[in-house]
Amino acid sequence: MKFTKVELHVIQMALKAPFVTSLGIVKERKGIIVELHDDQGHIGYGESVAFETPWYTEETVKTCFHMIKDILAPIVLKQSYEHPTEVFDSFNTIRKNPMAKAAVDMAAWDVFAKIHQLPLHQMIGGTRSDILAGVVVGASTIDEVLKQIQAFKAEGYERVKIKIGPGKDYDWMKEIRHSFPELSILADANSAYSGVEDQLLEIDELGLQMIEQPLGQDDLVDHARLQKKMVTPICLDESITSLHAAKSAIALQSGRVINIKIGRVGGLTEAIRIHDLCQKHGIQVWCGGMLEFGVSRAHNVALATLSGFSIPGDISSSSRYWQEDITTPDVVVERGRILPFEGVGIGVEINRKRLDEVRIHHEVLIK
Ligand SMILES: [Mg+2]
Repeated sequence: MKFTKVELHVIQMALKAPFVTSLGIVKERKGIIVELHDDQGHIGYGESVAFETPWYTEETVKTCFHMIKDILAPIVLKQSYEHPTEVFDSFNTIRKNPMAKAAVDMAAWDVFAKIHQLPLHQMIGGTRSDILAGVVVGASTIDEVLKQIQAFKAEGYERVKIKIGPGKDYDWMKEIRHSFPELSILADANSAYSGVEDQLLEIDELGLQMIEQPLGQDDLVDHARLQKKMVTPICLDESITSLHAAKSAIALQSGRVINIKIGRVGGLTEAIRIHDLCQKHGIQVWCGGMLEFGVSRAHNVALATLSGFSIPGDISSSSRYWQEDITTPDVVVERGRILPFEGVGIGVEINRKRLDEVRIHHEVLIK
């Protein structure tokens, strides 16, 4: 693969409803769509999923834009590649910045699958004919949470994830468990219990499917200590930023489940490597979401066809967040399941009219 042009589209779109986490409220979403052209006329798409402020990880839309434009694009425009894994590996000398790297890595995989005229899920060795979908509820009041769960259950979702934090935990979860005794419930703390982890112990009796990232990003040792005290499996999200971090977490027994997010780990290449490592060690995985646009969502759908993705992820329908996405067709959830896209590459087209409407900055980088 010889890449000749990188186009960056910075877009901004309002969410259908504000999304509440323990660390902040997201009302509008900005993102960067990376368009990667090769010398044969193929175009691949990637997406940077960093938020505008560093509340989830240290990267932001601005840092990703700088990294892609000034550091990563010049690297991919300078060399040629046999395989997309070489793109990720060619960023070896660049420290961290996984979300910036991921956007370029995803686009390279899309180009590669298009060169081979295959759907991306086949290109990466996916074997699942449909994937399990879950949905995330982020609301400010328990009444609103219960209302949202009821609506999502009616849409066929089999697993619901609730954002929790001190003061919005045991009582909330108990009420949800009481209202929906059979529902598979996951609680995501986004690190809200650092230093007050014992507050979580009473949640243990509610039979939750798992609790996600209770402690800080770097707290692998503390997570291991907490897991020993809890029956509920701990799932790591923010802590798993690379294959190396996954290896450390497994060695320390910091949790029993890993949420794999393509953006957070540096791209599809590293996500597949983490999936393979987890399979070897009997660690369950599922595919996390980032309130993303259609490009990243299509990559998630492809990733989740790998055999290890045996529990429902955060891949919900496009209409969960957007009035109109920048890609077609939409991701659609039916009876809690999503069918992978069968078109070549990521299998979705960019809706140019919609992209133009929501684009706030555009840059073209040429070899
Ligand atoms: Mg999470």
